[in-house]
Amino acid sequence: MSVVDRQEWDVVVVGAGGAGLRAAIEARERGARTAVICKSLFGKAHTVMAEGGIAAAMGNANAGDGWQVHFRDTLRGGKFLNQWRMAELHAREAPQRVWELETWGALFDRTQDGRISQRNFGGHEYPRLAHVGDRTGLELIRTLQQRIVALQQEDFRETGDYESRLKVFQECTVTRVLKDGERVSGVFGYERESGRFFVLEAPAVVIATGGIGKSFKVTSNSWEYTGDGHALALLAGAPLLNMEFVQFHPTGMVWPPSVKGILVTESVRGDGGVLRDSEGRRFMFDYVPDVFKEKYAETEEEADRWYDDPDHNRRPPELLPRDEVARAINAEVKAGRGSPHGGVFLDVSTRMPAEVIKRRLPSMYHQFKELADVDITAEAMEVGPTCHYVMGGIAVDSDSAAARGVPGLFAAGEVAGGMHGSNRLGGNSLSDLLVFGRRAGLHAAEYASGAARPRVDDAQVDAAAAEALRPFSAEGGEPDGGPPENPYTLHQELQRTMHDLVGIIRREHEMEQALEKLAELRLRARRAGVEGHRQFNPGWHLALDLRNMLLVSECVARAALERTESRGGHTREDHSGMDRSWRNVNLLCALADPVDGFAATGPARGRIALTRETTEPIRPDLLALFEKEELVKYLAEEELYE
Ligand code: FAD
Repeated sequence: MSVVDRQEWDVVVVGAGGAGLRAAIEARERGARTAVICKSLFGKAHTVMAEGGIAAAMGNANAGDGWQVHFRDTLRGGKFLNQWRMAELHAREAPQRVWELETWGALFDRTQDGRISQRNFGGHEYPRLAHVGDRTGLELIRTLQQRIVALQQEDFRETGDYESRLKVFQECTVTRVLKDGERVSGVFGYERESGRFFVLEAPAVVIATGGIGKSFKVTSNSWEYTGDGHALALLAGAPLLNMEFVQFHPTGMVWPPSVKGILVTESVRGDGGVLRDSEGRRFMFDYVPDVFKEKYAETEEEADRWYDDPDHNRRPPELLPRDEVARAINAEVKAGRGSPHGGVFLDVSTRMPAEVIKRRLPSMYHQFKELADVDITAEAMEVGPTCHYVMGGIAVDSDSAAARGVPGLFAAGEVAGGMHGSNRLGGNSLSDLLVFGRRAGLHAAEYASGAARPRVDDAQVDAAAAEALRPFSAEGGEPDGGPPENPYTLHQELQRTMHDLVGIIRREHEMEQALEKLAELRLRARRAGVEGHRQFNPGWHLALDLRNMLLVSECVARAALERTESRGGHTREDHSGMDRSWRNVNLLCALADPVDGFAATGPARGRIALTRETTEPIRPDLLALFEKEELVKYLAEEELYE
């Protein structure tokens, strides 16, 4: 057996972004000895990149706001496929989570009378995003880290050891969740710098690993987003929910090629930025779908008046939910009215004075100046859709964040499914990860305190070590006699496949092609070979990440092929409308054979088994928050009858 360091903890949190840190703080405060593991340096998680803000109905900018309005907006944004109880808890608890951050030292931007300032974002009826310029994620992570340090200092005073109850293992990658029978017994992973293996034994594991964007060619996501947590859960026996829903943010940079995909925050539109085609037309007025017609302005004059008088005017169509705006940009470019580099124009320079732009959007100003030599205070930006967020994820219980089917496994943040339905509203991720990060930490701690300590199975540890070492011995001949493969080449082919064949607009025959290509890549990935040794070896790390990206990509492609309608972040050219009969259908992906999917199903047929389930009916008092005429547009016939 390989040399493996072992430690015992009560709760292990995989991921140190907003969700992971919030979970860890809660678990430690509830008395659980808690370990946090992250792939990157502590403080460098993807959450740091979040720009626009945290959505919470605090009512600071408009007293008409409240949790019910936020709940309604979230369901409309998700096209009523949201796990409604999650959306309810989220809307009710988000304000408390923001105020709590403030008591822990977060310095939010303020209104003139000293309250936390809130800005407009797409799909939100009122200004609702608490923010710190366009660097909100940085402040969120800084505050949570500060809270962790405060708890560690408390522990030092009591035990003489800062890390006795809360310890962070940075630059460590988890590759397997270990199990004792049906329940969780810990995690297996490796230190990225030394390559050494380790096992953390624990009755409860919280997965908070973020998203999957690195499976797509053009993405706003950081290098960490290889779908690890999704795959860890699948491999441990927990299903993934509605993986077809992938959000393509409408505004990523399109030029120069080296920065293609980097996000242009929605705050630009929230603060007054407008979208124009190559002829200078504000084209979004042509793309307001029927379900939103009553809520969006029909003329530029009305749209512009809304910024000063939102109570008597309707919103500009640039602030439609992201899926609508992304499709509109895609259609404009396809119709030949795009910008020189294949996007459209986003302009704030004619809408705000230069000093206001620099104050409200400092990161955007520097991003364009330094990366594209564009001065956004004087000229328009070129923007186009970029893969941004995955709505699909680990199927969880709404209240406790417990993953389905695997006792002791919890999930929170972007890796968890259900909360956002078919499309997430901007700002709803930072609030989601605070609300459900806390809930996951709380319930993991409770579960751990009542559970007998599990037994770690040495055979599983050996198998995990052998799996991790395989890229060093991939010499060809296994399993089909082909030559060793380069992990970087495989990754590029995977990204191209997902971008071209399972991207923003989807077609049946292309998704079938994608599944064939994924099957081929999966075979070749078994021969992914690396040279050198285990000390910081990025090729090896990527070879291991490929397993996760391939599994998750297959889930996305299979579910997208199955759902024969267009809804939120899933657009079918061959089934262009939203179909009410799909409103109450969830698609679940599970591993076809938890022991070894290759043996059971054969690689060409893939590793994922897909099943349908009917969603739980929306509670009547929550349905009563909507007008009947609106419900008619969304709900299936039998639901309306009931
Ligand atoms: P993350 O913050 O990504 O953390 C994941 C953690 O898991 C990391 O620590 C990582 O190292 C770790 N990890 C991953 N795999 C492993 C493994 N195998 N082993 C160990 N550790 C692992 N949302 C909003 O609500 N408002 C915004 O304004 C906003 N702006 C955004 C701007 C940009 C540019 C981007 C890209 C996204 C934005 N989002 C925004 C979305 C939001 O930032 C993310 O959805 C959110 O931060 C995800 O947080 P998380 O805690 O789930 O995961």
